Parts: sequence; C-alpha cells; structure tokens
Amino acid sequence: MGEFQVGSIGIFDRQLRVSWWDQRKLEKTSLFIIANDPYSYISLISAIAVGFGRIYIIGSRQVRDFKILFKNASGDVFRETIKFVEEHFGRYLDNYSIELNSIHINLASESALNLVKNVISEDESENKVVLDLSTNLNIKLFTWRLRSLIKVPTYIVVFCDGLKLYALSEILHRSTNKIRRVVSDIFVRVQRQATSRIPIEHLFLLASGLSLGEIVMQIQGGFTEEDLGAYMKFTPALEVAFPFRGIPPLRAAPQRIKSIAVVGAGALGTFYAIQLATMINLKLLETREVVFIDPDRIDQTNFNRQVIYWGDTIGLSKAEVMAERFQGMIHDNVLVRYEEARFEEIKDKLKDMTLIIEGVDTWAARKEIAGFATENRIPLISAGVELLHGHETFYLPLRTYCPFHSINLGEKMDPQINESCLNIQPSVIFTNIAIASLAILTSIGAREPLNGVLYYSLEGLYPEYRRFYVQEYYESCGH
Ligand SMILES: [Zn+2]
Repeated sequence: MGEFQVGSIGIFDRQLRVSWWDQRKLEKTSLFIIANDPYSYISLISAIAVGFGRIYIIGSRQVRDFKILFKNASGDVFRETIKFVEEHFGRYLDNYSIELNSIHINLASESALNLVKNVISEDESENKVVLDLSTNLNIKLFTWRLRSLIKVPTYIVVFCDGLKLYALSEILHRSTNKIRRVVSDIFVRVQRQATSRIPIEHLFLLASGLSLGEIVMQIQGGFTEEDLGAYMKFTPALEVAFPFRGIPPLRAAPQRIKSIAVVGAGALGTFYAIQLATMINLKLLETREVVFIDPDRIDQTNFNRQVIYWGDTIGLSKAEVMAERFQGMIHDNVLVRYEEARFEEIKDKLKDMTLIIEGVDTWAARKEIAGFATENRIPLISAGVELLHGHETFYLPLRTYCPFHSINLGEKMDPQINESCLNIQPSVIFTNIAIASLAILTSIGAREPLNGVLYYSLEGLYPEYRRFYVQEYYESCGH
C-alpha cells in the first residue's frame, strides 16, 4: 500500500479531544469571500460554522424566492444570507462574536479594485485570507490583480465539470512556468464552463469543505513533532481537483431514486441533506420520499456546526427538525418524513427503501446498517469522518463492493470512551462537509458510481493532490 495508510479511520470526530486546536487563531482571522453565484451563500454559512472572527462577502447577486437553507429570500442574496444568520444563529448564542459584512459592489467596475484593496488593508485582524468562488473570468482577473496589490493568502476555486481549488499564494512561490500553467489552466476552465452541461451549483458544498479545510489548517499551522498525535500534521496542497483520475465524471441528467433513508442527523446528516436538497432543486435528483432517522435531541454542542439546526431548536428531535427544514429547502413535491428512533428499532420499515445513506458515528451502528443493506440488497452510501480525514463508499447490490469487503467493516471496533466527551470546537466541520458532499457526488451524482472507497485527508499522505486516495474494485464482491 506504499507509505500512505489506507482505511486509517479509528475513531470518529465526536470521540476525539482536540487538544492542539486553537480556536482563537480563527477568531483573529478575517475571511474575504469573493462571489457572484447565489450558491456561494453555502460557503458563507460554512465559514460561520467554522467560526472565523470576521467574514466579508464581496460581490452581489439579485435573487427571487431563492432558498437560503430552509428560508425563501428575495433581494441581494448575500445581504439576505447575513439577515438569515442574524435571525437564526447569532441571537441564540451568548458569546456570539462573528462579524459579517456584505460589500455590495460590481466587481467588474474600475473602482472596485481600489475599494476592495482598501477594505482588506484597513481590516485589523491578525490573519487575513481571500477566497474567490466566482464563476466569471473578469472576477478571476480581479482577484489575480488584487493578490498583486495586497499580499494576503488567496485561494481560488474554478468550477468546470467539477471543481478545482488553487492555493494561489503557494503557487506564486513556484517557478514562472508553474505559474503560467496555472493561469492558463484557470483561463481554459472558466471558458469551458460556459458551455458545460454539468451544473455547478451542487458543487458549492464541496468547494466549501475543501477550501475551508486548507484555509483553517493553514491558519492553525505550526505543528511540531511534539504535538500529540501524528495525524494532525497538515501539509498544504497547491491544487485540489474533483473529480480526478479514477473518479467517475459527474452527471448532467437526473438520477431517479424512489425513496431515500438518511440514517443519522448529525454533522454528516446535515451536509447530506444540503447536498441532496441542492441536487433536487437542480433537477439532478428526482425522488418521491425522504425519511430522516435519528433518536437524538439537538443540544448546544450541535448548534454551531450543524447549520440546519440554527434557530430555536435546542431540545427538539433532530430527525423531526431536519425533516421539516429539508422540506423547506426543496422546491419539488417530495414526501419528507422522520423517525425519532434508533436504526435497529425501525429497520423493518425500511426494507422497501431504494437507497440508504448513513452518517452514524460508531462502527457498531455502521455494521448494523451495512448488514441490513447487504441482507436486503438495498444500495447504501456509507461514510466515516475523523478530524482531518475521512472515507466514503457506495454499495450497489451485485454491482460494487459492500463495506464489509471494501473497508473491512466487520473487523472495525469502537474505542472505549470513559467520558461522554463532546468537546468539539465549532471549526471541526470542514471534513464532514467534504466527505458528505463527496459521498453523494461519487455515487448518485456520478454518471457511473464509483466501485470502491474514496479516502480524503488533510495530512498530505495521499497521492492525488495530496488529498485523495481511491481504492478501486472491479465487479461485485458477491453481495
Ligand atoms: Zn461484500
């Protein structure tokens, strides 16, 4: 297997203590998001869940009846998003200290460059980062020029039949040839996107997870050999693309799935729901019924990270709130139900489901669900997340490998945890975002599903862009 560790997940994020994490570094950070597509609101919300001290969204876009999570908005989408956040998030937290600014500006105008330069220069945060999520060549050029005027770490996302993230500041340290290649790569991709049949809006969640992972870890930085746990060593990536060699291309046509059960309404479940809703609204997914299953109630530790629960929901059933909000997130007429129960209590009702998506957080629960899926020949999306890495796989009965064979699920054991420690900082969410999105995109979002396991890690151990490793299989495992 070479030097990278495959299937290295041992424990899940809620079972971890994050001793080396310094949330104050993020509180002292200003993030400047440059955007023109309404779906960039997803990145703004994700950045809030991460807990940056100050976030600017630069650019504007008028919308009508646009879904900001579970609310309809009309007007400037970024101002509406900030209003949404104030209404559903800030007022429920005692120590809320995130400052949000919308800079309503035409980025193509001559005065824009100086104005934005001044805003960034005058910002007093210790750390500043620019993230360009725009979909327009002129705005990409704007960001490029901005970077030459202010030496602030800059990340650029380009959407085209997928997405590519460039750590621009890292790239600019490389050879002129490398820089030239990147410039022409960005140019070609942005141009090609104009004629691509694959939509991009359902890729903003993945763009958020991947870019925030890079940005946050860069800010946390400075890990040494003495830090507890070797897994926390972050290696920056110059570029990260999806899909890539070994990963099936994304689909442009609708996928029909009669009924979907989402098991686990935690961090993964939250982002599965957002990914599914976006695809339903883009007509990439047609479904008649979605059921959310979770026995838990929403508590304070879920609140900032699991963005669907924003609002007065503490103490309510996770499954019920998620079902209600999911209904509010989609335009289509889908029957959305919930079961406030453990999987094994209600599994007999799930035998006719067309797809199960699990986002539970123990190996024991994952085994139970995978056992049920293989026994009843029900397709299953299965994923697991640790702090800086995760994996996902898709079981299609008699077509792909099941999790017992692909990730050796039968042998996985949960660690003994004495304390019910859920000491999770708000920021530990980007890996959940990336994995939830990848899991949906490589299975039902792909033209042909991936037969295998996609591993993702911020540690820099994997061969594809330092971030990914694909364990591919051929034909079926027999299940
Ligand atoms: Zn199998």
